[in-house]
Amino acid sequence: MNAREQKSEIHAPTVAPQTGTAPAPGIPTAYPLAAILDVLHRGKRFLVCSHARPDGDAVGSMLALGMVIEQMGKAADLVTADRVPLQYRLLPGVNAIHTMRRIHGPCDAAILLECDSLERTRLRGLEELFLVNIDHHITGLEFAHLNWIDRSAASVGEMVYRLARAAGAAITPQMAHCLYTTILTDTGGFCYGNVRESTFALARELVEAGADPIAIAQEVYFSAPASKLLLLGAALRRLNREGRMAWLSVTHQDMQSSCATEEDCEGIVNVALGMAGVDTVVFLRELPDAGIRLSLRSKGRLNVAAIAARLGGGGHQNAAGCTLEGPLPRALKEILDELRSAIAIPQETRSHQD
Ligand code: 5GP
Ligand code: MN
Repeated sequence: MNAREQKSEIHAPTVAPQTGTAPAPGIPTAYPLAAILDVLHRGKRFLVCSHARPDGDAVGSMLALGMVIEQMGKAADLVTADRVPLQYRLLPGVNAIHTMRRIHGPCDAAILLECDSLERTRLRGLEELFLVNIDHHITGLEFAHLNWIDRSAASVGEMVYRLARAAGAAITPQMAHCLYTTILTDTGGFCYGNVRESTFALARELVEAGADPIAIAQEVYFSAPASKLLLLGAALRRLNREGRMAWLSVTHQDMQSSCATEEDCEGIVNVALGMAGVDTVVFLRELPDAGIRLSLRSKGRLNVAAIAARLGGGGHQNAAGCTLEGPLPRALKEILDELRSAIAIPQETRSHQD
C-alpha cells in the first residue's frame, strides 16, 4: 500500500462527524490511533467519559485525555455517572470531571474509555453521538464507530500516553501524574500479569516528566477513611476457603454499620488473594437494589474474565467483575459452581469447549 492509499484508509471512518452519516458501529478500523487523531483534528468539542464507579485508570485517563485535547486547542467535557472516589480526588484537574446521568449539549464525538458498551457508562444521551472506544480489556468489544482496543496495554492511560505522543502534545507534570496513576492502579502496584518491561519504561518516563510516585502511592494506598477499614474487618469475618479458592462478602447491613460507601469496597478482594495457597478469590457485595456485585481475582492462569463474561460482566485475565441476581447465598452458589468447574477443567481445554 502506498502512502496515499494508506492516508485515505486512515481518514475513511472519520468523515462521519462532518457528514452526519456515521458508519455502522462495530466495523474494525485499520489504523485506529490515526483515525482517532483525525477525529480530534477535525472536531472542536469532545465528550470524554468512562465507566460507572470509575477506578484509577478511568479517572486518570479521562483527565489526561482532556489535557491532550485542550493542548490541541479544543474543548473537552469530562463526565462520569458516579463521583470520583476519594483516593483520586487530588489528581490534577479533577474538578473538571462532572458527575451526571444524562449527556446534554452538542459535541463532535464522544470518547469512551475502558467501556465495552454504552450501558457500562450508565450515561444516557450517548446513543446519537459519534462514538470512539478506547479500551484494553480482553473482553473489550468493538461497539463504537471507531474502536481502538489494545489488550496488551497495562492501562488505558498507557494508550492515552501514546495518543498524546502521536498528537505531539507535551507530557506536562500534571498529565504525567494522571497517567502514572493509571498504570500504578491497573497493575495493582506493578504486581499483576499485565506488567511488562515496557510498563517500567513508561513509568520511568512519566516520573521524569514530573509524576511523583511516592505522593501518588500515599494518596492511592495509604489514605483510606476509617469506614474502609471497618468494612474490611466485616468482610474478613466472612472469609471462607476451599482449596485454592477463597471468598468473602459484605452485606448491605455491613455497609451501613461501617458507614461505608461503595468505593470503600475497592481493594478488599486483593487482601484475600494475599493468602498462601489461594489463587482465586471472589468478593461479593449486596447492592441496595437486591443485586449482588462480584469482584473476581486470580493470581494464576485461571482466566476470570472468561468466567465474568459468561455471567454478563467482563474484565481482564486476573481481575474481572459482574453483577448477579440476589440473594447473596444464591449468587455465591452460582459463582462457586462456575469457579469449581473452571478450576477442575484447565482453561485451555475449556476455551475449546466454550
Ligand atoms: P472490579 O472487581 O475492580 O470492579 O473490576 C475488575 C475489572 O473488571 C475492571 O477492569 C473492570 O473494568 C472489569 N469489570 C468489573 N465489572 C465489570 C462488568 O460488569 N462488566 C465488564 N465488562 N467489566 C467489568
Ligand atoms: Mn483499565
